[in-house]
Amino acid sequence: MSKRPAVIVKPREGRRARAGAPWIFSNEIAMDQGAKALAPGAVVDVKFDDGQEVGSGFFNPKSLIGVRLFARKTGVAADETFFAGRLTHALALRERFYGRPFYRLVHAEGDGLPGLVIDRFADVLVVQITIAGMEESLPALLAALNKVVGPETIILRNDAPSRALEGLESYVRVAQGAASRVAVEENGARYFADLGQGQKTGWYYDQRDNRAFVAGLAKGRTVLDAYSYTGGFGILAAKAGAKEVICLDSSEAALKLAEDSAAASQVSVRAVQGDVFEEMARLGTAKEKFDIVLADPPPFVKSRKDLEPGAKAYRKLARLSAEITAPGGLLLLASCSHNIPLDRFAAECAAGILKSGRTASLIHSAGAGADHPVHPMLPETAYLKALVYALD
Ligand code: SAH
Repeated sequence: MSKRPAVIVKPREGRRARAGAPWIFSNEIAMDQGAKALAPGAVVDVKFDDGQEVGSGFFNPKSLIGVRLFARKTGVAADETFFAGRLTHALALRERFYGRPFYRLVHAEGDGLPGLVIDRFADVLVVQITIAGMEESLPALLAALNKVVGPETIILRNDAPSRALEGLESYVRVAQGAASRVAVEENGARYFADLGQGQKTGWYYDQRDNRAFVAGLAKGRTVLDAYSYTGGFGILAAKAGAKEVICLDSSEAALKLAEDSAAASQVSVRAVQGDVFEEMARLGTAKEKFDIVLADPPPFVKSRKDLEPGAKAYRKLARLSAEITAPGGLLLLASCSHNIPLDRFAAECAAGILKSGRTASLIHSAGAGADHPVHPMLPETAYLKALVYALD
């Protein structure tokens, strides 16, 4: 029997946990003095009020999600052996479907590691921690990473805004090696990413398959890659023989990387710095059209309370994008907000396209690639939606 603190789920509560979800909300927990006194990030055993085991988890009395389970048994330690086991499993899964060491190595609860994301760029790992328990476990995690993966460089991109919800400070630190611009290999193309300064971990592996899908349709076509970031979609389309590619983004640094990646791939893309809504409205007024329009914006629904304004923004983006899609053209609309479900997002896209006066059929509906495994009881881990429409 372990002597660790135990956290008890209130009678008749913990509905999602009973169904297999790895979260227990703070209002579902019997918050006695003992529980309240535990430090954020404490490792606890969780039990239902009848004594039935729930598992081992990270507890944070300050967070809305009171417990994140990391094992379905009590008494499991978040130590080097535990991390090495989970990482070995995660690595084996990636090695089954990718020939090159460029992928999301750990996708949080989807890999049984709550609050942890790790992207791999060959010998460089970028680690992103978002919960107190994982932050407390950092030494054990780093030791396990060195044992299982053995990277040269590990960068801690611990600057996600959601860390504040867990009472964690924001920082970026090189844990070992040196941070620099790296090459990313994906779909046979080479890109550059800035892992210390870029957005999130520096690269969005989640769109890998969707980039390949679009590139497969791009030969001889004109392409507008809106919210291009460092050119993930646009450069692959150019490599696949697109006639003209515009990368549109508000970030000068991201566009500079896109231009450098294009040059290294011996293709040309035109980088345009600007606001997508303004630029699309301008292109619409000028009656400019593209055979393929891609719109992969930052999350418009950051929290549940933003659902209505965010949904409206997705609808407007769909309308503006449809207006500049050529007759017979293709339109990809994406959302990385887990707070808007697929059916609602698709409804907003449909409404926006209709409002532009166009008709469309949905030809492809996809999520993130296989290196972003979804926890089957936690729809929040399936955040990415990418819908491709064929317009009239
Ligand atoms: N499609 C990209 C990822 C996009 S991430 C890829 O495949 O890698 C979202 C991007 O939107 C970021 O690069 C950010 O700089 C940009 N962005 C955010 N708000 C914007 C705005 N109002 N206008 C143009 N770009 C914006």
